[in-house]
Amino acid sequence: MGQRISPEYIQTSLAASLTLGLQQGSFHRNAKLKGLNLLLHYEEGCLGRCHFCGLSRSRREGPRGKTFIRVDWPIYTLREIIEKSKMKDQIHRVCISMITHAKALEDTLYIIQRFKEETNLSISVLITPTLIHNDSPLEAMKKAGADRVGIAIDAATLELFDRLRGKGVEGSHRWEHYWDVVRMAVGVFGKFHVGIHLIVGLGETEREMVETIQKGQEMGAYTHLFSFYPEKGSPMENHSPPPIRQYRRVQLARWIINEALGSAHQMKFDETGRLVDFGMEVSLLIQTGEPFMTSGCPGRDGKVACNRPYGNERPSGPIRNFPFMPEPQDLEEIKNQLGIE
Ligand code: SF4
Repeated sequence: MGQRISPEYIQTSLAASLTLGLQQGSFHRNAKLKGLNLLLHYEEGCLGRCHFCGLSRSRREGPRGKTFIRVDWPIYTLREIIEKSKMKDQIHRVCISMITHAKALEDTLYIIQRFKEETNLSISVLITPTLIHNDSPLEAMKKAGADRVGIAIDAATLELFDRLRGKGVEGSHRWEHYWDVVRMAVGVFGKFHVGIHLIVGLGETEREMVETIQKGQEMGAYTHLFSFYPEKGSPMENHSPPPIRQYRRVQLARWIINEALGSAHQMKFDETGRLVDFGMEVSLLIQTGEPFMTSGCPGRDGKVACNRPYGNERPSGPIRNFPFMPEPQDLEEIKNQLGIE
């Protein structure tokens, strides 16, 4: 048998594999997956060395058997994934994660084309800025059929980015270049057709995170928020997730900024950088539940398709990103976590 590598083979998130019926099982609280997350796969794995990531070269295990955003990523043929997704109306969008590998750009274009020709799904690409030096690969992705891109900035400050993804780990990613590519991507795909991924809990203050969300907003990029969860075997396996109250405050601030209801400039922080005032009345916002749902690319209905059930926590909770609308008892819990009556 030949090598099981991209583009003819691809990894899917465990959630996608369950939803497509490739494995048996169901989701806690009947969460429904609406976005199919795919990951390019090569024998050498990802060449990045990001300290917090399950795919990192600095992780103890080899490229096989790695987890990414905490879950397993089984491998299937691209043909099988496409055939199965045609039969699933519940799926609105597919997202192709490039990883850092010399063949990733070429293979991503091929996979975009196949989905465009054979399905009616909207297509996102989680691009690797380090492989992109001008806007022509972005133009090519758009031409092939992608309508949105995501850029995993992940660390909210230059210092953390450098320490965890760049020079500090002898990695090739550079903060300034990532933001340059955000700018290029907004130029090619249009304002707010670009999303940046940010991970809360890598060592930044709430102020730093909120200001980076604001920076993205001012450039025309929404923030897709993640809560740090230690990947076993990664150099940060012993680093704790952020306290839930910190995550809730940042979620609410992100919602206010991305929905253009307010801005980081109106918010107030204490001397440790903790968010103490959102600059507006928030009780009605909390009551809607929406600020606490997963943030990501939208589906056919304009609502978030990329809902990544239980990508940031154990299903037993507390749920960090709700893959469905929080229910009344969830809202009570959220208010307690925020310390709001
Ligand atoms: S938010 Fe968008 S770019 Fe990010 S993983 Fe989801 S679909 Fe992909």
